[in-house]
Amino acid sequence: MEDAESLGFEHMGLDPRLLQAVSDLGWSRPTLIQEKAIPLALDGKDLLARARTGSGKTAAYALPMLQLLLHGKTTGPVVEQAVRGLVLVPTKELARQAQSMIQQLATYCARDIRVANVSAAEDAASQRAVLMEKPDIVVGTPSRILSHLQRDSLKLRDSMELLVVDEADLLFSFGFEEELKSLLCHLPRIYQAFLMSATFNEDVQALKELVLHNPVTLKLQESQLPGPDQLQQFQVICETEEDKLLLLFFFLLLYALLKLSLVRGKSLLFVNTLERSYRLRLFLEQFSIPSCVLNGELPLRSRCHIISQFNQGFYDCVIATDAEVLGAPVKGKRQGRGPKANKASDPEAGVARGIDFHHVSAVLNFDLPPTPEAYIHRAGRTARANNPGTVLTFVLPVERPHLNKIEELLGGENRAPVLLPYQFRMEEIEGFRYRCRDAMRSVTKQAIREARLKEIKEELLHSEKLKTYFEDNPRDLQLLRHDLPLHPAVVKPHLGHVPEYLVPPALRGLVRPHKKRKKPSSCRKTKKVKTQNPLRSFKHRGKKSRPSAVPS
Ligand code: AMP
Repeated sequence: MEDAESLGFEHMGLDPRLLQAVSDLGWSRPTLIQEKAIPLALDGKDLLARARTGSGKTAAYALPMLQLLLHGKTTGPVVEQAVRGLVLVPTKELARQAQSMIQQLATYCARDIRVANVSAAEDAASQRAVLMEKPDIVVGTPSRILSHLQRDSLKLRDSMELLVVDEADLLFSFGFEEELKSLLCHLPRIYQAFLMSATFNEDVQALKELVLHNPVTLKLQESQLPGPDQLQQFQVICETEEDKLLLLFFFLLLYALLKLSLVRGKSLLFVNTLERSYRLRLFLEQFSIPSCVLNGELPLRSRCHIISQFNQGFYDCVIATDAEVLGAPVKGKRQGRGPKANKASDPEAGVARGIDFHHVSAVLNFDLPPTPEAYIHRAGRTARANNPGTVLTFVLPVERPHLNKIEELLGGENRAPVLLPYQFRMEEIEGFRYRCRDAMRSVTKQAIREARLKEIKEELLHSEKLKTYFEDNPRDLQLLRHDLPLHPAVVKPHLGHVPEYLVPPALRGLVRPHKKRKKPSSCRKTKKVKTQNPLRSFKHRGKKSRPSAVPS
């Protein structure tokens, strides 16, 4: 990401208060995108920047934005307080994340620069009050920003100087095209704009025409995902064509990976439907493997709380459904579409894209992502900044053509296979087949419906009724957990234990019980959870005695 002669933050002409905040964050050097984008932005250029997810994009636009606004305030003539910076993002989660990062960078100039996030629709009244104060930077999704512009609670025509469009490739795919076009009518004729995107597609091209004036294009010479020494990518293909066997195979493998500690540290499990996410949650629950689901059906406050607790190390396993794939084919049900109830999902939710999950050691694609871009966004949740990571993707035989498309996108010109076959000896985990089959049988459609309803009710309760209470008692928010059993009646305590005789010989003595639920404590410092590449750890152990599930 960085070369030896890269320009340090201290040579970029940034305000000392910003440098102090950067230093507090522990950033010793700018990332590639920051190194290239910041000087150009400070020079007044419009930018079109392609940088992969996790590359430090947010600070690449936030630092120059803060610098330019600070400079205007401290050196220019005294002007009326007004909104001068606008950051557009495709999802509410990203809005919160972007606001938080900008605020962290503005820690030492918080009196000069205020940042507001107006993306949560339910808080419209309080947002209007915040906007009356005219924060310097406003962050939001296009629909919320447009709504405020139309109600005159936000005015930009005479004041806005800087526009950022983050994750630009997603804005059109989230259906914001019309809103964006209407929104642009409320902007002044002249402003500086930065368009950040993980991919350059037709939508980005269209946006470029709409918002940028003579931009400098930064196509950084970096691949979309980190290289194999940082990110290891594997695929598991099951050869049988029988739907029922396929499903059991994948559930069994997942059980083995989690229960035998073959995946260590924090993992994100991606599925394509809500139904599937609850099926997995209830399945794992029976083996006392705690997990929580994360999807657009949950209230925004819950979604953000789950992400924040995951980042603090409260959960090891989150089962995520990315909004844009709801309705995609389901494993084992090839022609299936997602349940109608998926429509209840928040169209502005997004858990795979852009969200900064901290220290994820493995991403497991239980369902193949429907597009190569979706694969990149999911895989980008691990191996962020300079951390290592692993992606393991389960593939049905009929999904091979899709897999090839992913390979094509990742392999680039040399077309070397990127997703290596994950080899293991199935016969060594055969002993678990009966446990898994029984557990799968307990997870009926009825149980899933009930669990989903229960979860939504509880989350709504947390989110709405307790909102005021938690605002007054923020420490108690730590007590809320999202991974408690959803269907305690089917949890079989004895299944939480793995008898030694069932453990493959090479792994005996290495299987650790699942981490006890972390005791909430508002005083606890956020601990950096050590990420460990599970496949590397197989190899390491393999030196003494070769474990069975090791890729050979
Ligand atoms: P982003 O691509 O903006 O979502 O950032 C991805 C992660 O990289 C975040 O956790 C940032 O805190 C981190 N990050 C951003 N810039 C730097 C830097 N210069 N050095 C180290 N980490 C960074």
